[in-house]
Amino acid sequence: MRALLLFRLDLSGTSAVEESIHPIDPREPIVRATDLGVNRGDGVFETAVVRGGRPQALEAHLTRLERSAALMELPAPRRDLWRAAVLRAAAAVSLPGVLEEGEIASVKFVMTRGDEFDQGGPTGWVLGFAGSDPSAVRMRGVRAVVLDRGYRHDVMQTAPWLLQGAKSLAYAVNQAALREAARRGADDVIFVSADGFVLEGPRSTLIARIDGELVTPPAELGVLPGTTQADAFSGITDVPTRIGVLMRDDLDRADALWLCSSTRGAVPVGQLDGAERFIDHDLTVRMNAALDARED
Ligand code: PLP
Repeated sequence: MRALLLFRLDLSGTSAVEESIHPIDPREPIVRATDLGVNRGDGVFETAVVRGGRPQALEAHLTRLERSAALMELPAPRRDLWRAAVLRAAAAVSLPGVLEEGEIASVKFVMTRGDEFDQGGPTGWVLGFAGSDPSAVRMRGVRAVVLDRGYRHDVMQTAPWLLQGAKSLAYAVNQAALREAARRGADDVIFVSADGFVLEGPRSTLIARIDGELVTPPAELGVLPGTTQADAFSGITDVPTRIGVLMRDDLDRADALWLCSSTRGAVPVGQLDGAERFIDHDLTVRMNAALDARED
């Protein structure tokens, strides 16, 4: 993964959109040591993949940024400003010669609560990345383990301050879960609630095929509404799809599982807790063809 470019956003006022977007070098410091995003993971972010010079699912990402900000009682993001900055970053990383062979670009956009000691309001930036092409992992699949997230399935309603379902900057727990997966000889995780409801991955949405239907867990369980999963469902018209509750045992009943995310698309689960799982290559290819062809 390489950082390609950075825009700092001026979120303080009502300046015209273009005057609020400042290009700077990605290695230049822009965040103060007293920023709450740095010190407390107190902020929100999104990552959109870039294809054909445009960020995919941009409006869905902006909607989710707004949702996360609302869950965290942050000021509502200025949608026109974020849209313009992400579009600009996507176009810039797509210029000829920027990406090397086998790379795809993504754009990460971040809004923190801002500096702890002044009232300047949120800090914002947009970062362009070059990452590896996901075609190999889409073929071979991932080895996943099931891990307990430790909260009940209704945590979003009973303890909203735990911020389940918000895409906050506090991803240390997700990173720790991925390290635990590596210790167990795997490369990804499917979280379940303390009372056995299937949730999501630390960086992806789960889709399970059960009794011929593609099923994904509902956002009310404190999972992120996945933009990639939503578009995979719209792109596959010959298989019924639904949002529904899945229990731990349903993972064993499912005849195929996928983990979906913006940068990788739909990645099949080829092993779960050490047991080999069937990979439906045909459906995986069709889902990813629909995802890669998205124009917005
Ligand atoms: N769930 C979590 C916890 C994530 O971090 C992500 C993406 O990073 C997703 C789901 C998938 O979301 P999307 O498909 O919009 O990238």
